[in-house]
Amino acid sequence: MKIIIFGSTGSIGQSTLEVIRSQSDKECLQVLAITGNDNIELLCKDALEFGVKRVVTANKKKLPELKEKLSSYNIEVFAGEEALLEVAQMDADWIISAIVGFKGVPPTLEAVKYCKTVAIANKETLVCAGEILINTANLYGTTLLPVDSEHNAIFQCLKNESIKTVRKITLTASGGPFRNWTLSQMEKATVNQAIAHPTWSMGTRISIDSATMFNKSLELIEAKYFFHLNEKFLDVLIHPESIIHSMVLFHDNSVLAQLGPNDMKYAISYTMNYPNRKSMTSSEIDFASLKKLTFESPDLKRFPALRLARMVLKTDGGLGVVFNAAKEIALDRFISGEIGFLDMSRLVEKVLLSSEIIKLEHTIPSSLNEVIDINNYTRKIASDIKFI
Ligand code: NAD
Ligand code: MG
Repeated sequence: MKIIIFGSTGSIGQSTLEVIRSQSDKECLQVLAITGNDNIELLCKDALEFGVKRVVTANKKKLPELKEKLSSYNIEVFAGEEALLEVAQMDADWIISAIVGFKGVPPTLEAVKYCKTVAIANKETLVCAGEILINTANLYGTTLLPVDSEHNAIFQCLKNESIKTVRKITLTASGGPFRNWTLSQMEKATVNQAIAHPTWSMGTRISIDSATMFNKSLELIEAKYFFHLNEKFLDVLIHPESIIHSMVLFHDNSVLAQLGPNDMKYAISYTMNYPNRKSMTSSEIDFASLKKLTFESPDLKRFPALRLARMVLKTDGGLGVVFNAAKEIALDRFISGEIGFLDMSRLVEKVLLSSEIIKLEHTIPSSLNEVIDINNYTRKIASDIKFI
């Protein structure tokens, strides 16, 4: 099987390489290409270990360093956004889309036209261009598989079930590091506190998104498009142990849930080996020592991102891309120390309610270019909003 890893130097990318290392039939897996951004050292190390054909950095300034480090090997090296699109056009059987943020959207949409199976970790593609992604996959006969643990869980629960018999889908959420914090504590939360996720080890940006619950908000929108479900079928439940990865309630009130260790390698391995299951070496859940699994409803006052997601879910227009773009700018501004933790959701709400954006409510972007235009337009609005 020929494999491409977009975002190989990140948390999901590294877990994917780890899954490949541990596969019993790894000699049948050929990593055609890997891509990264700034971490050239790691890109080169992995390129040599896996004998890849091509390495691409999104950052053109890093091309000389990449070229120099790989100059004595027969490996193609390229840089920039065009080069990422060209990676998507290589003849692969399985691609994982694991670039973080909106930058992952164009290569993922391109990959769907060329690759047999695309495993989607980059939730932004579904949030910003869900309909385009699904329609393109249908047109090209491409299999899309969800890597996000919640969607992977739901996908597993829905195997052999009809979506028409679903009454509700419940996305579980750990509640993040601030699950028990008061609003006034959250007001002063720092970047380092927000990154300290209690149950999952992830990239910096998604960890902060988990602390605000913007991550869960994006996942609600992701689920809407992936499973073709209206927002009233979608719910969120706090489950601090992160053992149940999500669940589905059917018409007969039966609930199917998928449980597993909180390690993304399980979801990645599932999509890599689909429809088979390969054995995993790490330890299974010990229910007797766990003793109990707990649940609570999310507090929309402390986690307004979930309320904002509902505003987006209720419309059929281009608000997914608006929501994501505003959130990305809010996150940049929080990381740079310009705004506070709770200002992130305030900023996104201001953008969603701004007159320039309200008029987009019924605009359904039908091409990647339109999605990119809305993304750029929103980023400017979100960057210009002043906080005193
Ligand atoms: P990360 O920050 O650890 O890694 C991101 C990857 O994207 C790196 O390889 C980086 O080099 C690359 N990248 C960064 N900026 C880029 C740019 N401008 N152009 C091209 N590439 C760029 O992120 P992650 O935690 O691995 O998350 C990746 C994606 O998977 C995100 O969309 C995230 O929401 C999703 N996801 C992650 C997890 C997780 O456990 N980490 C779980 C579910 C979904
Ligand atoms: Mg998730």
